[in-house]
Amino acid sequence: MSHKSDIEIAREAAKRPIQEIGAKLGIGADDLLPYGHDKAKVSQPFIDGLADRPDGKLILVTAINPTPAGEGKTTTTVGLGDGLNRIGKKAAICIREASLGPCFGMKGGAAGGGYAQVVPMEEMNLHFTGDFHAITSAHNLLSAMIDNHIYWGNALGIDQRRVVWRRVMDMNDRALRDIVTSLGGVPNGFPRQTGFDITVASEVMAILCLASDLADLERRLGDIIVAYTRDKAPITCRDIGADGAMAVLLKDAIQPNLVQTLENNPAFVHGGPFANIAHGCNSVMATRTALKLADYVVTEAGFGADLGAEKFMDIKCRKAGISPDAVVIVATVRAMKMNGGVAKGDLGAENVAAVQAGCANLGRHIENVKSFGVPVVVAINHFAGDTEAEIAAVTDYVAGQGSEAVLCKHWAEGSAGTEALAERVVALAEGEGSAFSPLYPDEMGLLEKIETIATRIYRADGIVADAKVIKQLEEWEAAGFGHLPVCMAKTQYSFTTDPTARGAPTGFSIPVREVRLSAGAGFVVAICGEIMTMPGLPSAPAAETIRLNEAGDVEGLF
Ligand code: ADP
Ligand code: MG
Repeated sequence: MSHKSDIEIAREAAKRPIQEIGAKLGIGADDLLPYGHDKAKVSQPFIDGLADRPDGKLILVTAINPTPAGEGKTTTTVGLGDGLNRIGKKAAICIREASLGPCFGMKGGAAGGGYAQVVPMEEMNLHFTGDFHAITSAHNLLSAMIDNHIYWGNALGIDQRRVVWRRVMDMNDRALRDIVTSLGGVPNGFPRQTGFDITVASEVMAILCLASDLADLERRLGDIIVAYTRDKAPITCRDIGADGAMAVLLKDAIQPNLVQTLENNPAFVHGGPFANIAHGCNSVMATRTALKLADYVVTEAGFGADLGAEKFMDIKCRKAGISPDAVVIVATVRAMKMNGGVAKGDLGAENVAAVQAGCANLGRHIENVKSFGVPVVVAINHFAGDTEAEIAAVTDYVAGQGSEAVLCKHWAEGSAGTEALAERVVALAEGEGSAFSPLYPDEMGLLEKIETIATRIYRADGIVADAKVIKQLEEWEAAGFGHLPVCMAKTQYSFTTDPTARGAPTGFSIPVREVRLSAGAGFVVAICGEIMTMPGLPSAPAAETIRLNEAGDVEGLF
């Protein structure tokens, strides 16, 4: 058993040069663009040359409704990737990059944990290859050009009260949520109320993650709606003339980053959109590239399966023309207890009855994922305090649902702890076969799409939407956006919009507060409940304990 922190384990990693990792996937040294010795981007011409190759199997890792600490999806994604390699499969993993906001706010990294991590974890959690800085710059270039356009005479007739494009930075800073810009008189422009979002909430981030190549990226950037005129006609990024320069700023950022796991297996870490107002998966470019190079690709979707897996299927897979061959639902005994009504402070004590009660949550996720036509296996991410009786309660329940739960000890043991899961995943992916289909067709109306997700996935009785929301959706349909998928923004802690309603609630409706159009990313966001696009720091931020030690190593980062 390990008592070492994630960063201590990561620092002891026996990393191999990135060229060796690339070679495992058949990427030649010339096709890697190294960022130091242990990170590289994969060159565009190499990626272009892969188009005719067959795809490997795609495995999605998702989870039940989580506890606030996370259930170990990333940790399990890394552990399963290593487990597949251990049993002789050529496997790669695909995960998201980290945001600086949570890194300096709450403890908890984005590189996995224990003996199932991606390295270099410090760099991955800090500046990495600079992608997020590039996205921030591209986003803010557009912001600056909008205000500049208004300053120099506003030829497009932008209604300054209807500028919807804000600014972004990759930091939790609540002071910037709602601000007034252009104070100070005539030379500074026209004062208007606006604000900052965190970079991961930027539509540019979602676009980078859904774009199929640089040309598609530039087209999507051009489609972003930044403002409206007085008679509510949309003004796009293309109208402002920023799309070309933004693509220039993003030309390196769009190329997938290759790093390695603690066990020296290939890992693509690329992109990191929010899982609420965006779709919460790593980039299509990285996933597609990995599918061309590996026999098995393990990837993660953010939040629980009601949000993450649904968006993975209905937004990412639909748009990228890919589909999962098997889905792993991560469950932990502590999250089962929480879904069974136990308070956060009491999760340590054995409570088989609560685990059994919480299983209803898992059961609904299993049914939901199967309804997409894909085979499912449950991974029980083992925590040191779990008792045998609690684990058996989960295993028995899942067997009763016609699926299988596999106990996994990758956090403590690395790939030795996921061998059984890897075998089961291979059996599912090669056996039954997947008959994937998204939940709703493109042609379905926007309101009906929201209703379909709410009733079929969340099991709500229906949705409640203001006349204003319904009218807005109708206007977008009339303007040609009706074919877009819907991106649901709601709490990750419950099937409902009430974070305290755990388990498998029934007899509720889903209020749709607001809808937003991400015309460049290509989805309509349905906001159900309070969604924070610029988080704040907690009273004792992790930043207070992060420092460099005498050897120059980073301390306090997880
Ligand atoms: P998610 O991707 O679901 O948000 P992560 O994989 O990032 O979750 O894990 C969240 C945190 O929990 C990490 O700090 C990780 O080290 C820790 N963790 C994950 N699995 C275990 C485990 N089995 N035992 C102890 N800690 C774990
Ligand atoms: Mg994660």
